[in-house]
Amino acid sequence: MSDETSLGPGREFDLVRVMMSRWGDRARGIGDDATVLSVPTGEQLVVSTDASLEDVHFRRAWLAPAEIGWRATAAALSDLAAMAATPLGILIALTLSERWLDDLGELAEGIAESASAAGASIVGGDLTRGEQLAITITVLGSTAAPMRRDGAHPGDILWVTGQLGGPALAIAAWNEGRQPTPEARARFARPVPRIREAQWLARAGASAGIDISDGLGGDAAHLAAASGVRIAIDADALPRAPGADVSTAQRSGEEYELLVTTRSPLDAAAFQREFNLSLTRIGTVEQGDPGVDLLIGGERVASPTGYDHFSP
Ligand SMILES: [Mg+2]
Repeated sequence: MSDETSLGPGREFDLVRVMMSRWGDRARGIGDDATVLSVPTGEQLVVSTDASLEDVHFRRAWLAPAEIGWRATAAALSDLAAMAATPLGILIALTLSERWLDDLGELAEGIAESASAAGASIVGGDLTRGEQLAITITVLGSTAAPMRRDGAHPGDILWVTGQLGGPALAIAAWNEGRQPTPEARARFARPVPRIREAQWLARAGASAGIDISDGLGGDAAHLAAASGVRIAIDADALPRAPGADVSTAQRSGEEYELLVTTRSPLDAAAFQREFNLSLTRIGTVEQGDPGVDLLIGGERVASPTGYDHFSP
């Protein structure tokens, strides 16, 4: 799409037009060989890329095409949130199989909705044919003060946004041939990258932060490893989605909530008022071998990590 003529005449060109007609002015700067973006003075460019593959990250039977587009885009944008960056634009690399051709317009619509909800324009992309649907989204953002994983110190307080477990409950229901509850389904199908929330947390003094795409246990371990600290999570404090037990809440991936550490307590009530989203104190940062412990009824157990997309 950076150079429409390179796609050749005929069907591929038609497919690009299908997407462009859906995007309208939500796409910007497409039509030259590459896109030129300005980064606000004093800020740095923040870039990340994320692939969503059919039968790895989602199954076609679970979601509508627009939801698949939304979800792939939101997942990529969540990595900008994790850095407390402001989105500037996204690039889309789409691999499309024959059986997805009729759904391209809906897919494109979901991508554009998610991008524009986050304030990002569609600034370019690429279209290829393949056996299965693959949506690779590259996100571009900027910030003067990136929130990193490596800034947590012993004595810091650990916080998480939102309620955990919804996506795992949805996958469990689908795997058992049931329909998930509307709440659990929405958490999987329409995740929201916590972009403004991350900026609030960074301004409030977050020493480190990460988004929970690999599950709370897994991403807390990533933060612990990057910061060289031990993290203790109080199981009783975990904010759980309706129907989620502690194990589900701490293992559930694809949450796209934020896990942050701070030196001083945060005003969780002010956060809740501003974003209509909970902010919960769930543990502490300690000195020790990098890793995560779960405190369950006074017992300390090493937190299981690792995350398999389809094993809730
Ligand atoms: Mg991430």
